[in-house]
Amino acid sequence: MTGATHFVRSADALTIMTTLAGARIVAADGVIHNGWVTIQGSQIVDIGPAATAPVEACANESVIDLQGAWLLPGFIDLHMHGGGGHDASRSPADMSAAVAFHQRHGTTRTLISLVAAPVDDLCEQLRWVAELSSAQIVGAHLEGPFLAHARCGAQNPAHLLAPDLATLRRLIEAAHGHLSTITIAPELPGALELITAAITAGVVVAIGHSNATYDQATAAYAAGAMLTTHLFNAMAPLHHREPGIVGAAFESQAALEVINDGLHVHPSITAMVNRTTDRLVLITDAIAAAGAPDGEYSLGGQAVRVTHGEARLVSTTALAGSTLTMDDAFRRAVHECAIPIERAVAAASTNPARVLGLSHHAGAIAVGCDADLVVMDDELRVLQVAKGGRWIDSPIITVRG
Ligand SMILES: [Zn+2]
Repeated sequence: MTGATHFVRSADALTIMTTLAGARIVAADGVIHNGWVTIQGSQIVDIGPAATAPVEACANESVIDLQGAWLLPGFIDLHMHGGGGHDASRSPADMSAAVAFHQRHGTTRTLISLVAAPVDDLCEQLRWVAELSSAQIVGAHLEGPFLAHARCGAQNPAHLLAPDLATLRRLIEAAHGHLSTITIAPELPGALELITAAITAGVVVAIGHSNATYDQATAAYAAGAMLTTHLFNAMAPLHHREPGIVGAAFESQAALEVINDGLHVHPSITAMVNRTTDRLVLITDAIAAAGAPDGEYSLGGQAVRVTHGEARLVSTTALAGSTLTMDDAFRRAVHECAIPIERAVAAASTNPARVLGLSHHAGAIAVGCDADLVVMDDELRVLQVAKGGRWIDSPIITVRG
């Protein structure tokens, strides 16, 4: 937490009824420059501009003056492998610690991404996700094992498998209803059948780590794939005679993940995805090294070296995830990609909520939504995060009245 020296400490929980006033709210239908939000329990129950604010706080109601700070919906990360030094696939404790690390950076809901590994290991990791699942940990993202060797990126090729319905069933059963998304390479034999089976089981299918042609990718989107795993990375580049996954993705209705760290894609590409679609989804693809020192790490059993925050496989020098956090991805979207703040909020919160089927209560500041909130200063640095109406960590905000 930085830039909060003008704030003082308050009680750690939002009381029965709390109004956050003096905020620049990025609400579902635009920015309210001097607005207020009333929270009861874990939910947002009212919202409006200053002119309509409740005149006086009543009993059991506190008013917190945000002094012009930004108020955004909590970020939702569809693609996270670790953070704060913790590899989420190592143990349930590491899983929880990685989630807690990202929460301090504004991520109030997340998937746990699991890279290709022996199926028994994946089943165990999926059981951990099921046991830890909460309002914070929505479910798992299986990034493998049904991926293309030619585009494995930092995935361990030894653990990649051809599409197999029995294996998919094992994985789904191990996750106990908490397998949210799975990345599949649609050009593999039997992939379309696998995609249909996953969708039938309630799993959102993503296309990625794939050498698919435009026609193969189009067929997968037509079969119901609704997400694209880190668009542009681990797939063929757009070519005017073979548009590949990228060309098919722009024509589809699928959400488009982008790792907006200034390294995986050029800022102008993130800006272009925002300009040409309303389906941009900012993700981190963070590994354990996010928020941790440079040095040696591992991903899916492969050695990774992190230099100046850039994570690469030691063996092939392929990019191996990122050291990004959602607040950084969001800040770069606004500052480096010149994406309007309400569109950046859509990409970091609203669009991923839609992918997960959570739009009725998450991903926006609106009446009836959970009070998952991020308070940011003028430079878009995180000042405070609330999850379900409760501040996390030490609160740093002035109480008035
Ligand atoms: Zn990943």
